[in-house]
Amino acid sequence: MKGKDIFKNMSPYKPGKQIEEVKKEYGLNKIVKLASNENPFGYSDQVEAAIPKLINHLEIYPDGYSTELREVLANKLEVDGDQIVFGCGSDEVVDIICRTYLEPGTNTIMATPTFPQYKHNALIQGAEIREVPLVNGYHDLEGMLEEVDEDTRVLWLCSPNNPTGCLIDRKSLEHVLQACPSHVMVVVDEAYYEYITTDEAPDTIASLKDYANLVVLRTFSKAYGLAGLRIGYGVASKEIITLLNITRGPFNTTTIAQGSALIALKDERFLKETISKNTTNKQAFLKHCDALGLEYYDSETNFVFVKLPVSGDEMFEHLLSNGFIVRSGEALGHPNGVRITIGKSEDMEELQQLMHAYLAPLKEENKL
Ligand SMILES: *Cc1c(COP(=O)(O)O)cnc(C)c1O
Repeated sequence: MKGKDIFKNMSPYKPGKQIEEVKKEYGLNKIVKLASNENPFGYSDQVEAAIPKLINHLEIYPDGYSTELREVLANKLEVDGDQIVFGCGSDEVVDIICRTYLEPGTNTIMATPTFPQYKHNALIQGAEIREVPLVNGYHDLEGMLEEVDEDTRVLWLCSPNNPTGCLIDRKSLEHVLQACPSHVMVVVDEAYYEYITTDEAPDTIASLKDYANLVVLRTFSKAYGLAGLRIGYGVASKEIITLLNITRGPFNTTTIAQGSALIALKDERFLKETISKNTTNKQAFLKHCDALGLEYYDSETNFVFVKLPVSGDEMFEHLLSNGFIVRSGEALGHPNGVRITIGKSEDMEELQQLMHAYLAPLKEENKL
């Protein structure tokens, strides 16, 4: 048997280290995972309370149209219900977009480094990948626009960008949307949307009225804390959503995920608290980095990419052996740094001490 030729150069996604794996390997009792931008404060207790009721009839297929969730979300976003597609995480919406719009002979444009799933899924569809390096952690929007030609189908904007955390501001996004020819779909992946605090942020959902080629991706995995349930969504014109719904598997989100997302949407208090704690803890962490003389990218998310005078793998190993799992920049296309999810304040303090303990002696010996 023979798979597509492209698979010769591809491998399965390597997730961050798992908690149980690290416990065993290092003989540790307590592990703090700050590697995948999960919500350190968990998720709404209203969701937890509702789950027993949601597992009442597991023999029945889920509602393939996510009717109730769709209605509540559409109201909240002030769009039509037919403008939303749900996915098994926004990951799956990325795949659905690639399957719907990309094929051999087409090309697609993205930043590098950015969220790896755009490239991964586009490669499988046989599209040519055009990667444009970030500048200071930000998308090089002019550089990306220069890559557009008549065979371009999708331009990916990860905003705020993973792994850097930098946001594309309102003016810059407006410029891209105006400059981009209408045959090119512009996907704005807003997985960290809820964490944004600057007032320079674009209102992407409002822009859908003006741009028929715009798609906005969001998820319940990050600020809502439901990564384990796998549910995210895309919002776009009805024309686009109709095609995406043809590609989508008929029962791609579960009853439990739909029901939980519905409750999570309504529990505004949990979301507010998450955002406020994240902002406070992030500011404290950045201050600490300043004190250590470490640079980092601007972040409108719940993670910070810290640039290091040592390799990312080195710091990763040091933190791992002390019970903290972070993401080495090495795996993210940026070797001299680590991406750290902002955690609970007590955990962040311990992490800061560990970073200090590693870097201070090197500094004294003038090795940095
Ligand atoms: C985490 C993440 C996603 C995927 O989220 P799921 O909804 O859990 O699939 C998408 N885009 C970016 C940029 C992310 O960081």
